[in-house]
Amino acid sequence: MQIENFIGGEFIAPLKKNYLENLNPATGKITSKIPSSTKEDVEMAVKAAQNALPNWSQLSIDERIIWLRKIANALESRKEDVAALESMDTGKPISLAKRVDAARSVSNFEFFAEHAENLIELNYKMSDATNYVTRKPVGVVGLITPWNLPLYLLTWKIAPALVMGNTIVAKPSEMTPLTANLLCEILTSIEFPEGVINIVHGLGPSAGQSILEHPNIKAISFTGGTATGKIVAQTAAPMFKKLSLELGGKNATIILDDADLPNAAKGAARAAFTNSGQVCLCGSRILVADNIYDEFVTLLINEVESMTIGNPSDENTDIGSVISSEHMEKVLSYIELAKQEGGKISVGGSKLTLPPPNADGAFIEPTLIEGLAIDSRCATEEIFGPVASIHRFITDDEAIEMANITEYGLAGSVWTSNPTRGKSVAERIDSGILWVNTWLHRDLRTPFGGVKSSGVGREGGDWSLNFFSELSNICVKEE
Ligand code: NDP
Repeated sequence: MQIENFIGGEFIAPLKKNYLENLNPATGKITSKIPSSTKEDVEMAVKAAQNALPNWSQLSIDERIIWLRKIANALESRKEDVAALESMDTGKPISLAKRVDAARSVSNFEFFAEHAENLIELNYKMSDATNYVTRKPVGVVGLITPWNLPLYLLTWKIAPALVMGNTIVAKPSEMTPLTANLLCEILTSIEFPEGVINIVHGLGPSAGQSILEHPNIKAISFTGGTATGKIVAQTAAPMFKKLSLELGGKNATIILDDADLPNAAKGAARAAFTNSGQVCLCGSRILVADNIYDEFVTLLINEVESMTIGNPSDENTDIGSVISSEHMEKVLSYIELAKQEGGKISVGGSKLTLPPPNADGAFIEPTLIEGLAIDSRCATEEIFGPVASIHRFITDDEAIEMANITEYGLAGSVWTSNPTRGKSVAERIDSGILWVNTWLHRDLRTPFGGVKSSGVGREGGDWSLNFFSELSNICVKEE
């Protein structure tokens, strides 16, 4: 299979005719060739987006909402294909790709259609005047997304950008381009207006960087690693582009001494190992109250040992491969480092060799490590793989201090039979998203984003609609 860029409503080969190989990480086999786009391809995409902007932005919001619903319906009818391609590109289990990736890609469009429909006009009355807050589109916006939740995260940005009247130049990760390409096929099938959504495939430092640098792209919404986020900010901030940065995390799962332990063990295992630990929200540091430590860790190890690791195409697989053999080596090197830092592997710890067709796949056992210092590299750096460390604490204050020790501040969860206590512990953790007695329980209206090195800005509900619009205040003085 060879895919092309999608520019101005057409599938177009990259101008320099260079292609990259795209692998299935669960088999090591090449699945497709994808464009290695350059500045010139991005230029063409920006021109197409600029040409499409007047018509798209002049549609009424109701007309754009109708388009969002058409996309949602068309995507819904292809959700089996979305799941199959996502599983093939990422190595994630097909059941997870269906339940999370395919379902959420559809619901992102449905949600933002409904949210925009209910958007409240903001007016502020004074004794002698009224302020009318109006919204205009930002213009052409650049969307750059990672490989862990490919279409899920891309549509999370596309839907609000579209509904607010912007046109789009987007670059998915070069490791997971296939569902973005499927979305383009769907757009063609519903005769979606040409040039409103343009997808340029290729590498971050070339295609991605050209999007950041383009003077006619007025806003950048980026999800990815903190190191790349710094490059994005350095490039885009001096050009005064609007910027949204959703970056890395090293999130704590805190098990208080009054937690329902079997439930907390299930939750902690799910938080640590969903998508092989490759979710920015994963709880990779499990902090456990001293007096329940042994009982909890035994339950947690049982949970992890009961997970089925295997062929992602098998409906019963819980854990598939990681994203690439390079990433597998990086994760394994952290496991080695953990041993040097004094950690003891309680479960897992090794590369897994599976039978064909997965003999060359990038599989790692879900791994729990005990005995690491809370400020060790393995307990503070984002590993982004199926590896979690377990740490002991005595008081709630100590747990909070341990949770806050990293440079990150994205998410976390607290497990307790006392929700009031859980909420007050959560309030003292420096993170943008916290759960009590659950994990990854999402209401799309709520603010989503991180503090410290986990990002700048918030997505979700009104926050996304505000990012993708320019607000003006018109103050009308009354006679
Ligand atoms: P990267 O930062 O490596 O890449 C993210 C995107 O940026 C990719 O499309 C990449 O392209 C592109 N890119 C790389 N360099 C540049 C550049 N110079 N200019 C413009 N674009 C560039 O992240 P990963 O793909 O490895 O994703 C994993 C990271 O994403 C983790 O740190 C994770 O925590 C974070 N993440 C954060 C989330 C959040 O909501 N906070 C959600 C999901 C993930 P290419 O792939 O071609 O290099």
